Amino acid sequence: MLMACSPPKMALGSPSFRRSASGMPRIRMFARPVPVSVGPMLRELKKECDTPVPVLRRVAEAMAADMRAGLAVDGGSDLKMILSYVHSLPTGDEKGLFYALDLGGTNFRVLRVQLGGKDDRVIATEFEQVTIPQELMFGTSEELFDFIALKLTNFAANEGGKFHLSSGRMREIGFTFSFPVRQTSIDSGILIKWTKGFAVSGTAGKDVVACLNEAMVRRGLDMRVSALVNDTVGTLAGARYWDDDVMVAVILGTGTNACYVERTDAIPKLNGHAPSSGTTIINTEWGAFSTGLPLTEFDRDMDAASINPGEQIYEKTISGMYLGEIVRRVLVKMSKDGELFGRQSPEKLHTPFTLRTPDLCKMQNDSSSDLLAVGAVLYDVAGIESEVGAREVVVDICDTIARRGGRLAGAGIVGILQKMEEDSSGLIFGKRTVVAMDGGLYENYTQYRDYLHEAVADLLGPELCRNVVIEHSKDGSGIGAALLAASNSKYDHDF
Ligand code: ADP
Ligand code: MG
Repeated sequence: MLMACSPPKMALGSPSFRRSASGMPRIRMFARPVPVSVGPMLRELKKECDTPVPVLRRVAEAMAADMRAGLAVDGGSDLKMILSYVHSLPTGDEKGLFYALDLGGTNFRVLRVQLGGKDDRVIATEFEQVTIPQELMFGTSEELFDFIALKLTNFAANEGGKFHLSSGRMREIGFTFSFPVRQTSIDSGILIKWTKGFAVSGTAGKDVVACLNEAMVRRGLDMRVSALVNDTVGTLAGARYWDDDVMVAVILGTGTNACYVERTDAIPKLNGHAPSSGTTIINTEWGAFSTGLPLTEFDRDMDAASINPGEQIYEKTISGMYLGEIVRRVLVKMSKDGELFGRQSPEKLHTPFTLRTPDLCKMQNDSSSDLLAVGAVLYDVAGIESEVGAREVVVDICDTIARRGGRLAGAGIVGILQKMEEDSSGLIFGKRTVVAMDGGLYENYTQYRDYLHEAVADLLGPELCRNVVIEHSKDGSGIGAALLAASNSKYDHDF
């Protein structure tokens, strides 16, 4: 690319720093200009990432249409619209001791809760987090499930205090399993494939509930799985326990997904196998959505280099795993073609995923006049020495990518609400409706969250917006799984 020869924009007098051998920044008081060629590149990026209301509206409408197509027939849409077999949500009346296991990444969490019914609600709860040893992620299915059963046995052995099991009962557990499964009933599901770095042999094609139950039997642990749930479904159940108006749950963390309460007569692919409750929870797997998204060359290149090209396009545009990587790709291009960081050739910046989404958040929260935190992130992540002008550009890029992600996530939520409202007029917009949100991205990245809320408000308008409450339901999925174990208990219950 030709370098422009008109006078560059100067960031005069701006101190930058260089780390000394001791790691402390040393102040340098000269400024390197931001080359003018960066300006047009930034403008082009912003134009391509722009999400004005008409674009958001088209995305919301496409989300609603794709949901319908996925409900009509399996394979009818990018959205799988998976049946969860959860036909009734917690009411608050649940009573007894229940366990939950959340397996969805490099850690798993075990939890126990003593439920006391309407008046006493959650009497006590305890949890423990366990890191899965690296070798087990590449081992055999039996090794992995034996390890989990061992940790569950140790955890159950410390049950005491306010926890007590009704006599003659086995412990029942809700199993949150955040990998793709083909669910066949509330307590069985076939693993389609491991993801997120797991390569455990011998589980794909098997019922993961049977795998866990068998391991618990091998250990002699008196515990059985009564509900297998996706983490979004757990979040919805956990939030509904406290609030009857919860209709939708959305996860925005490393990945993203959403589920909602659907009327069974709006699900043609049930083919008459509708439960008597008349409603069920649909796991949309909305990360696979792709219609009408404003994408750039950076998105396309990242997708092409990914382990699943052409898949999970919405997830790749809005979720925590990818936002940092998109910004990194923009920075690589701007430093190469626009000399954003002068003549430096930041080798480390060429390594995929070196810049992480929490880094973007850190940089956007830098309120110092010289953007010292931005300078520190660029230095720590890629060894880049930056001037304040370049740091401003970097913050602007982060904001552009976070804004697009947050607003598109908001449009997806409105798409779900719109679909529900179109099917039963007044169900959503005629009364208070709660969307339960969870995930580290939504929780921690304030600007992203604000953009999401802004898009929902832009699309719904002030009137409808008053009825739609977007609520953070932190770690609700664990207790949600335990509650679903309670409502699907193998024993007669009096609630
Ligand atoms: P998971 O989705 O893996 O179950 P979490 O819901 O805790 O886990 O989300 C973790 C993800 O949230 C991280 O991978 C990261 O993308 C994002 N995240 C965590 N902290 C921040 C932060 N401060 N700013 C932006 N994103 C964050
Ligand atoms: Mg999670």
